[in-house]
Amino acid sequence: MSIKIEDRIKQLKLNLKNRYLLEDIKADILIDILNYQNDFVRGAGEELPYNDGKLVSLYIGIPFCPTRCYYCSFASEVTDYSIIKSYLNLLIEEIKFTGEIAIKNGYRIESLYFGGGTPTILDKIDLELLINTTINAFKINPEKTEITIEAGRPDTITKGKLITINKFNINRISINPQSLNQKTLDIIGRKHSVKDIYNSFYEARLNNISIINSDIIAGLKGEEVRDFKNSLDEIIKLGAENITIHTLSVKRGSELKEVSPYIFRDGEKKVYEMLRYSYDKLKNSGYKPYYIYKQKNQVGGLENIGWCKENVHSIYNIRIIEENQTIIALGAGGIGKKYYPNKSETGFSIKRIANPRNYKIYMDRFDEILEKKNLYF
Ligand code: SF4
Repeated sequence: MSIKIEDRIKQLKLNLKNRYLLEDIKADILIDILNYQNDFVRGAGEELPYNDGKLVSLYIGIPFCPTRCYYCSFASEVTDYSIIKSYLNLLIEEIKFTGEIAIKNGYRIESLYFGGGTPTILDKIDLELLINTTINAFKINPEKTEITIEAGRPDTITKGKLITINKFNINRISINPQSLNQKTLDIIGRKHSVKDIYNSFYEARLNNISIINSDIIAGLKGEEVRDFKNSLDEIIKLGAENITIHTLSVKRGSELKEVSPYIFRDGEKKVYEMLRYSYDKLKNSGYKPYYIYKQKNQVGGLENIGWCKENVHSIYNIRIIEENQTIIALGAGGIGKKYYPNKSETGFSIKRIANPRNYKIYMDRFDEILEKKNLYF
């Protein structure tokens, strides 16, 4: 049996090389991802009773950040806390409304992701309200559900908020420095220091956060290969369990697109060298690649790869990319997907169910948003 699998993998590698002209290292990474998912991830599109179409992911969006990064194309705005509060009040309503429908129709939450934006921009009391409402509305058992809170900006992480997160038995957050070079942080529009990044890791560990996801971007303005290497080395030393290496992408809606729309055509060699370094460094440090995706207008047509220590992958990241599971997305910028396992009946397998990106439009069209949730879930 094992010989057959080995033969199939050899054949697969030959196909990737000869038909798709992949270099060895890339073919190896794809095969490593396949092997990782086969070993550690249960299929969303396969076996019953695991997959009865009712095991879903839940996304909750807080579309606000302390400042806007120059490459950002997400639903994220900088605004007064009073506006954030008004938004949160409506979001809480959407959560309760959709939770009731979801429970009535037998949906169960496999993973819950609080994203945005930066959810930890909420103060401690509002963060607690958000988590508590979501857990109750969807009857989530935090001990059996993967729950991630994006705390991307280290300057929004406080001891009090970590205690709150911990109180709900949530043990996974994202701290996304993108670079550990102060000059780069200033260029990309962050208003925090490199020291804040170290402090946030330290506080998170002190408060029992056992899994930290971290993102780094290869190809940021002004960065040399040595800067990238330093950021990656430091994140590994800090012990992030999950590291996603993104290649800079010029996206619609970002400041970068306005100022340098074709910058992705430059620096291919340098960014390729950064990624090559990351493959070796991460592998040698005990990380395994577990998901991969590409976006438009990335430097050198290169890719994004998620790496993790064994068995602490983010199931949410995998489901989002594989598109074989329903994602219920709430809040501004939330892009949900309804998965139809029987494509032959519907003619399609995924139906996109998006909320407005802009929080003002979300607030204006709130009734319409609830109707949509009723219709699809
Ligand atoms: S932290 Fe993320 S969501 Fe916020 S501005 Fe930066 S890229 Fe956008």
